[in-house]
Amino acid sequence: MYDVIVVGARPAGAATAMLLARRGVRVLAVDRARFPSDTLSTHQIQPSGTERLRRWGLLDRLIAAGTPATGSVRFDIGGTVLQGRFPQGALYSPRRTVLDAILVDAAREAGAEVREGFHVAGLIRDERGVAGIRGRDGTELRAPVVIGADGKHSLVAKETAKETANEEAANEGAAPVQRAVPPRTVASYSYWEGVEQRHGELYHRPGRAVAAFPTNDGLTMVYAAAPVDEFGAWRTDVEGHLLETVDRCGDLGERVRAGRRVERLRTTVDLPNVVRRAQGPGWFLAGDAGLVMDPVTAQGIGNALADAELLAESITTGRTDYQQRRDEQRLPMFELTTRLAALRPAKGLDKVLLKGIARHRRSTERFLGVFAGTAPVGWFQRARG
Ligand SMILES: Cc1cc2nc3c(=O)[nH]c(=O)nc-3n(C[C@H](O)[C@H](O)[C@H](O)COP(=O)(O)OP(=O)(O)OC[C@H]3O[C@@H](n4cnc5c(N)ncnc54)[C@H](O)[C@@H]3O)c2cc1C
Repeated sequence: MYDVIVVGARPAGAATAMLLARRGVRVLAVDRARFPSDTLSTHQIQPSGTERLRRWGLLDRLIAAGTPATGSVRFDIGGTVLQGRFPQGALYSPRRTVLDAILVDAAREAGAEVREGFHVAGLIRDERGVAGIRGRDGTELRAPVVIGADGKHSLVAKETAKETANEEAANEGAAPVQRAVPPRTVASYSYWEGVEQRHGELYHRPGRAVAAFPTNDGLTMVYAAAPVDEFGAWRTDVEGHLLETVDRCGDLGERVRAGRRVERLRTTVDLPNVVRRAQGPGWFLAGDAGLVMDPVTAQGIGNALADAELLAESITTGRTDYQQRRDEQRLPMFELTTRLAALRPAKGLDKVLLKGIARHRRSTERFLGVFAGTAPVGWFQRARG
């Protein structure tokens, strides 16, 4: 009855279901969550991601929900300030309660069936490979294609990894995890009202990273990261450490302290950096399930939306190179992100280069475009020589 079953219905899953349904594919998306619901994540969507939402007709809904546009950003790397407008589009930072519900609604409107509160407990297989899913309640649902869009602890990835490991053991022993870097940061964030802000703000300080972006309801999201081996000390006084960190960032500390925190602080060290094999017989992985990286560069939501587009195209045109194209698009940023997540100060050539870039508007915009997804990561690597 279904052509495709998607496990997970947040950015990767709901967007994939929507795009497939728009192309006439019979899709079921399931999620154990019910929407709208929050998830442990901040939510800057880079301009390349918001451009996708615009093309899909969804950006207006984000704006109508009161999500402010951030057109310019101030990136202060150890005192070298790169400030400029995004050359294309704007960054939006919608609460996940807003974004994920818009995507789920859009998937349904496109004709996909979405079952909320459905917990997948296992996969069904036949002689061809993966052939469906089994719910915790025993329900069995079948389709020739199952997509794991079920996040960084993906059950679909774990289940298929067993099969991939056997298959590849006979085939040069390549592991289903293609690349893994241990978690590097502890991250905390919350929401403040009454914080004066003219740009999106990013700061890198030795052993610290900070982001402050406007979001829905007139609030400012403030995020701070520290090396994961400081977690023990950090957790004893999260607010104190977060505020002490923003105090190192120009006048941001003063502006945050002049406002009022209106929600609880969230803290996590569950920040893996993993690239997995993304396709096999009867299955694909999209979003964090297939490739997850530290949030220090805020790429995950945009990556999930980009995977959705690649995957919908692959499935409906019969292209077989989904994984190859995903890797080409994402691996350079994966490497840059894991390097930045080490939170080491810029030194030597990098420092000189950043100062040079900061002097010119066009190169500053190009640099910002690397993170915005509108300029290739290779541009910065080439400039380093
Ligand atoms: C602290 C933090 C800050 C972040 N900040 C940013 C940021 O600013 N910008 C950015 O772009 N990214 C950010 N990210 C990353 C971002 O959260 C993810 O990349 C993004 O959510 C990935 O989307 P996804 O659809 O692949 O997975 P998810 O959003 O994780 O969704 C997976 C879904 O699958 C469902 N699911 C899982 N298992 C099952 C099961 N067995 N049965 C049924 N359903 C299941 C879950 O309920 C969930 O709804 C951040 C992450 C963290 C942790």
